[in-house]
Amino acid sequence: MITLRNIVKEYDGKQDSGRAVDGLNLEINKGEFVALLGPSGCGKTTTLMMLAGLLKPTSGEILFNGKLVNHVEPKDRNIGMVFQSYALYPHLSVRDNIAFPLRERKIPKQEAYERAKETSKILQIDHLLDRKPSQLSGGQQQRVAMARALSKNPEILLLDEPMSNLDARLKLDVRDEIRKIQRNLGVTTIIVTHDQEEALAISDRVAILNGGQIQQYAPPHELFNHPVNLFVASFLGNPPMNLVQGELREMNGNQVVVTEGFEYLLPADRRLDKAHMGKSVKFGIRPHDIAICSPTDHQRIKMKVDLVEHLGSGKLVKVIDPLGKLDTMIRLLTGNEAEIESGDEVYIKFKENKFHLFDMN
Ligand code: ADP
Ligand code: MG
Repeated sequence: MITLRNIVKEYDGKQDSGRAVDGLNLEINKGEFVALLGPSGCGKTTTLMMLAGLLKPTSGEILFNGKLVNHVEPKDRNIGMVFQSYALYPHLSVRDNIAFPLRERKIPKQEAYERAKETSKILQIDHLLDRKPSQLSGGQQQRVAMARALSKNPEILLLDEPMSNLDARLKLDVRDEIRKIQRNLGVTTIIVTHDQEEALAISDRVAILNGGQIQQYAPPHELFNHPVNLFVASFLGNPPMNLVQGELREMNGNQVVVTEGFEYLLPADRRLDKAHMGKSVKFGIRPHDIAICSPTDHQRIKMKVDLVEHLGSGKLVKVIDPLGKLDTMIRLLTGNEAEIESGDEVYIKFKENKFHLFDMN
């Protein structure tokens, strides 16, 4: 129901690369919850502002339900928006804040207040209607901002880092709540965030942005298990994916990734086209897909423990090549029961078929 077609945004006077958004294509279905995720400055807010109608694309088309809305005013777009700062009106009561978008639409006061009350019940803030924003906690202010965005029954809800001002614990509660409300109301929702955990937890699909372009647009598990490029692979995951420089070679009829520190035989079902042989690749493996193994295991690699960090839920172990040939440190995760200390010599192995290969272009 929302289509972005080849959207470009250039800010006047922007000196560097020029384009805040650079040829963005995106389709969002009715009722879907989509996150725009990426590092600071990648164009998330700019994209959201164009959806809201607060900014005009330099070129490209924005369609709602198949209709071009490039020139439709924000107030005529049937959207609700929550900004990072909440931007509540400090001099207005919670009631008047929530009723504000309705009053703007010339809905009579009595009716606007009734609808404000209904919306406040959904967000469980109906006991706060007479207060001023300054008399509310951060979490309550956040709910008022949500209620204000939802009071006019928008078709589309736009959220720009709505949880960035909340402490870690409250964030989790609010996150669940936003998702619940969104499901109940069925409102198409786009959230902008730089927090990958938040995006993956809450969304049906996530668009990973970098440099104003979409790198990958897919459901969370797909992004995590099948990143299409190095950017997505290294951006998603905490601790991040290990990436080791290597080369593909054919050896004794086997396909092997040869690195400075180890050789890894590709399993039969992951064999590549012959044309790939001789190419440089990055070999990627996530920390939780590496296990400490016995000295007799197949495809084991001898390593030396450099550092062990206690994460509470387990241990993050950093290992290095004892011969010093491999210049990359490798991170792996173990359970708390693993008895392991820095200086230990260990064997590690990569869990079956969990590796990723990326072309070096
Ligand atoms: P994000 O929300 O992902 O952090 P933004 O959409 O805010 O990124 O910004 C994208 C790029 O556009 C950045 O390089 C930023 O500096 C630039 N930019 C954002 N707003 C303006 C503006 N009003 N004028 C000029 N450049 C801007
Ligand atoms: Mg932003």
